[in-house]
Amino acid sequence: MDPSDLPTPAEAEALIRERVQSLPVESRPLASLAGAVLAQSVRAERDQPPFDRVTMDGIALASAAWRQGRRRFPVAGTQAAGMPPLRLDDPEGCIEAMTGAVLPGGCDCVVPVERLELDDGVAIVDDTTPVEPFWNVHTRGLDCREGDLLLAKGTRLGAPELAVLASAGLPRADVRAEPRIVIVATGDELVAPDEPIEPWQVRRSNSYALRGALSLRGYQRVAEDHLPDDASVMTSRLASHLATHDVIVLTGGVSMGRFDHVPRVLRELGVTEIFHKVAQRPGKPIWFGIGPGGQTVFGLPGNPVSSLNCLLRYVVPALSAMQGAPPRSPEHVPLGANFRIKPALWYFLPVQVEHSPSLGLVAMPKPTRGSGDFISLLGTDGFVELPPGPRELPAGHFAPLYRW
Ligand code: AMP
Ligand code: MG
Repeated sequence: MDPSDLPTPAEAEALIRERVQSLPVESRPLASLAGAVLAQSVRAERDQPPFDRVTMDGIALASAAWRQGRRRFPVAGTQAAGMPPLRLDDPEGCIEAMTGAVLPGGCDCVVPVERLELDDGVAIVDDTTPVEPFWNVHTRGLDCREGDLLLAKGTRLGAPELAVLASAGLPRADVRAEPRIVIVATGDELVAPDEPIEPWQVRRSNSYALRGALSLRGYQRVAEDHLPDDASVMTSRLASHLATHDVIVLTGGVSMGRFDHVPRVLRELGVTEIFHKVAQRPGKPIWFGIGPGGQTVFGLPGNPVSSLNCLLRYVVPALSAMQGAPPRSPEHVPLGANFRIKPALWYFLPVQVEHSPSLGLVAMPKPTRGSGDFISLLGTDGFVELPPGPRELPAGHFAPLYRW
């Protein structure tokens, strides 16, 4: 097939996003929500700050008294954080106030302790102190108002979002279920790391790389299997994986070899092929389909560089789409050196991200010796996606970066 008939990586990603099905919604406790995607919106429970909040330890007073020339303020009480508000009855006095406390009634500013002298229960404020209304006060409702929309559906929950959920008084939230993923290695030649190995066999390494990349992105419900290049064994095991998983990520067996049974077996199991092959190198033979129950099914090429690239370029965005998160544009980084692309295919180039004095952050090309050479990925940070060759891209060319 002419490469120009194949989808580009961006087109393939769009096809995936169009076809994947949403995961179910579940309510989970706040402490378990890091990395989850919200399936509800969240509004402010109260104004934030909920009261005029003292931001420095010091004395609260009425700035008008200071403006009228008063410099000595008898201390009438102490307002600690968590106490109901006191009230300054005598406007010529002051109240000792702590960071996080409510600004006492009758006061409008706080003079920090560093700017004061205390003399037998009297606070002395010197002339150079810039006393004015709201000095060292974080006023009620400045950050948001009660009922304001703070988090929209589809937001992925990181540290700031979790703080906002807690501040909204939500001990639980509705999020999309974490996908149940199975990584299925295929190949008669593959041997697990803990098994004896013959000279003509190969260690099964892809599953560990893929699981690691998923785990680093917060996906923990990941099972593993290894299937021989035998169509009937594949059929029965994949049927059972389809029954118990939302996402199947196969590696190997999707090319044109006589034992590459994966596409045919999947079709026979009722998985609808959406595309087979993308105009890219490495990873051109990638296969994508949707199972009879809406399962997301990827057949990634077995070569280790290809399978890892394809996981990051397609599987991770698919998982995000299934969780209801809107697409996020990848980080873009300039190439740190010229790079010649030969094939008429989009090119996934491993790079090391470095700091260059002239260009700032740059992606230094670290090509491998082909898609089987995963050793050369050591020390790299990810890959950049470059447009099809043949062409020479200059240093400074901006490209999307997909980190490992
Ligand atoms: P395939 O896509 O099945 O033709 O495999 C392409 C190459 O990748 C072959 O050299 C395989 O031995 C190798 N390979 C396939 N799966 C794995 C795996 N899980 N771990 C390491 N290498 C693999
Ligand atoms: Mg194979």
